[in-house]
Amino acid sequence: MTSVDYHVHSSFSPDARDDMRKMVEKAVSLNLEEIMFTDHFEFLSDGRPGRFCSSVDYIPRIVDEVIRLRDEYAGRIYVGLGLEIGQMQFAEKESKEIVNSYPFDFILASYHKVHDVDLSCYDYLKTDIQSLVHDYLEGLLLISERADFDSLAHIDLVKRYAHRQGIEIRIEKEEKIVRRILRLLVERGKFLEVNTSSLRQNFEECLPSDEILSWYAEEGGNFVTLGSDSHRTDDIASGMQEAEKHIAAFGLNILRKYRRNTEVV
Ligand SMILES: [Zn+2]
Repeated sequence: MTSVDYHVHSSFSPDARDDMRKMVEKAVSLNLEEIMFTDHFEFLSDGRPGRFCSSVDYIPRIVDEVIRLRDEYAGRIYVGLGLEIGQMQFAEKESKEIVNSYPFDFILASYHKVHDVDLSCYDYLKTDIQSLVHDYLEGLLLISERADFDSLAHIDLVKRYAHRQGIEIRIEKEEKIVRRILRLLVERGKFLEVNTSSLRQNFEECLPSDEILSWYAEEGGNFVTLGSDSHRTDDIASGMQEAEKHIAAFGLNILRKYRRNTEVV
């Protein structure tokens, strides 16, 4: 049984509903050894924070609550302090400042908003898919080249939203750039995330697909981080057993006990 969930959103994230304590309780009941909170922090293309994090005490409040719960639940579960930062490529300096100002265990990098529009908000029937995918991958490439993070979240996220509108997108068609991104992760000592949210939405594969997982292994990848991307308690650790099969099929391992600020135990 998988014992870690490295991608969980609590009610600090505007798009999630359950408080951290409730989520930790659920994780304990599932016998998880670690739960990593990765609430959202979004940048826009002009380098300013998006509305998700407009209040100055947004991050300090997350930090306080995680550390309080970590102490309280010590010996039962490790409550990890993470953050999912969107669009780091537009705010390199600001991202670094955030990452270095708090005792984060884990930073997820994402690209949610292409041209400042969330991928969940596109009308895919009216969108030039080829150019959207191109711009999306160029952004991921910049993030992978330069940003300070630990794991690249849901690399083929764009397909999850298009699928809801009956449009199938496969970033695998752009093999060259996808492989470049994967190679950069390996070269820079960063990881690829395996995200199980797609399994809750009628996909048979995780994000990323098996094909991309195989490329990651071929490019020298060894470890992946595993996350449910839950935005509510009921989804914590969902799909993990299924994901483990996809990961093991390519000889990959799941990262555990990762702490960017201390030695790995
Ligand atoms: Zn995300």
